Amino acid sequence: MKLTVLGSGYFIPTEKRNNSGYLLEIGSESVLLDTGSGTLRQLIKCGNSIWDISKIFYSHLHIDHLADLLPVLFTRKYSQPDNGNGELLLLGHDYLEKVISGFEDLFGKWIINEQYPYQYRCLKPGKYNYDSFSLSVYNGKHADQSLMYRFEDSSGKTLLYTGDTDLSDDLLEAADGVDILLTEFSSSDEEPVPGHLSPSKISHLLDKCRPKVTILSHLSPETEKGTLIDSINVPSNCVVEPAEDFKVWNI
Ligand SMILES: [Zn+2]
Ligand SMILES: [Zn+2]
Repeated sequence: MKLTVLGSGYFIPTEKRNNSGYLLEIGSESVLLDTGSGTLRQLIKCGNSIWDISKIFYSHLHIDHLADLLPVLFTRKYSQPDNGNGELLLLGHDYLEKVISGFEDLFGKWIINEQYPYQYRCLKPGKYNYDSFSLSVYNGKHADQSLMYRFEDSSGKTLLYTGDTDLSDDLLEAADGVDILLTEFSSSDEEPVPGHLSPSKISHLLDKCRPKVTILSHLSPETEKGTLIDSINVPSNCVVEPAEDFKVWNI
């Protein structure tokens, strides 16, 4: 499994950090986790084509996680596969269907490549099996349509992508003993933002779940400062690292 961060920033892009997007190479597949504004170009900058991507998982449908879906479909319409079989499956909460049918009503022929059409599937909490990996889906505590995804490859390595979330029983269950916890860090304890994680909440999560490596992303100008990250209590045998755009983890 290989994770490449395409966007480590919060909802406002900065010079240093793109909106949310991640490339996960797992088994024989390359999938995207969210497509915030700029994700497509970030993917190309690290040597990939949109045709490499077989699936896109949406954690929720806030604009900073979704915006590049339209450019992704438009690019697929006006190019040809240079890799893979041309299939693309979009996955997310039920509300994804509403988004896609809205796009199709507005943009129709401009986003549908009739030779290589995309598919979409709405997911609910539960377990799913794909050729290259298995997937456990949990509810996130952020927006009505938030989902968290725990991937497991054929060797048993696991990665949980939480998207934006607050602390919850579902999060504690999903993160338990995971190899890589890819989560968000968008709130301080002094000025807590509901639906986001602060140092004390992340400390509690690490204490209960003991993920081997925790990657903190969705960083705001406040939370990317060393002082706030340093206030997280990291249990022994656990590692916490901030995400950076284009940083890679081999799992
Ligand atoms: Zn966000
Ligand atoms: Zn959000």
